Amino acid sequence: MSTLKRLEGRTALVTGGSRGIGRGIAERLGRDGARVGVHYGSNEVAAKEVVAAIAAAGGSAFTLGQELSAPGAAEALWEEFDRHADGLDILVNNAGIGASEPFESIGEDDFDRLFAVNVRAPFFLAQQGARRLRDGGRIINISTGLAHAAAMPELIAYAMSKGALEVFTRDLSKTLGPRGITVNSVAPGIVDTDVNASWLRASDEAWAGAAALSALGRVGTPQDIADVVAFVASDDARWVTGHWIDATGGSLS
Ligand code: NAP
Repeated sequence: MSTLKRLEGRTALVTGGSRGIGRGIAERLGRDGARVGVHYGSNEVAAKEVVAAIAAAGGSAFTLGQELSAPGAAEALWEEFDRHADGLDILVNNAGIGASEPFESIGEDDFDRLFAVNVRAPFFLAQQGARRLRDGGRIINISTGLAHAAAMPELIAYAMSKGALEVFTRDLSKTLGPRGITVNSVAPGIVDTDVNASWLRASDEAWAGAAALSALGRVGTPQDIADVVAFVASDDARWVTGHWIDATGGSLS
């Protein structure tokens, strides 16, 4: 755990900061001294808990609510952000949804919703966030190791959506590089969050099987991912851009 306030004076927005990996990221950036916008989709209570936790640790944070699957969501979220903050230093596009449905039967509505939340929202949040980002800022997109290894058939559409996010990351780094803004993605493996609870916590065998996928022999935690994001957000990572960072605990090797 860092005691250094290396993000003092910076403002961050973490989408989906109310739960899971996003909560871990929001709390870590708060501990590093950033003022954090904790975004949620529908669970305001959870977002307020995160703000309280950041405040209890001596930091500063505020909540923002916006469902990200609808057109115009990015604009509405930035309008709300502007009521709380004057400029931005770190945008973490973390909010995302999965879709575990067989290739043969996934429907167009589910496919469209997946791409609306996992691709369209980060694209337009970055587009409109770039105007607010100060030079030297950071955009960090939360991807998945599945964008870099053959996905199981029921995860093809999800992996595709994160693959699009990875291409966006690479190409946007060229657009924003002249302003000293870095754009990177962080790709987790299996992390113990609500989205996995129904199968991961269903049996000891399921947990052990997930742990065995990692070279380190355990399941990832939100803090594992948050610490990698904190590095990418810091000045120490100023020379890293346009790339993805493997945060799978060695699940891909
Ligand atoms: P999670 O526990 O389900 O939390 C998701 C967060 O995103 C919540 O704060 C939720 O807010 C918000 N969110 C979800 N759908 C939204 C929508 N339509 N509109 C607005 N906000 C929405 O997820 P997680 O496991 O922490 O995953 C976070 C990110 O990591 C995702 O991009 C995911 O694809 C990626 N990832 C996760 C894993 C893993 O094993 N967990 C592995 C690789 C990559 P509300 O609760 O208010 O809806």
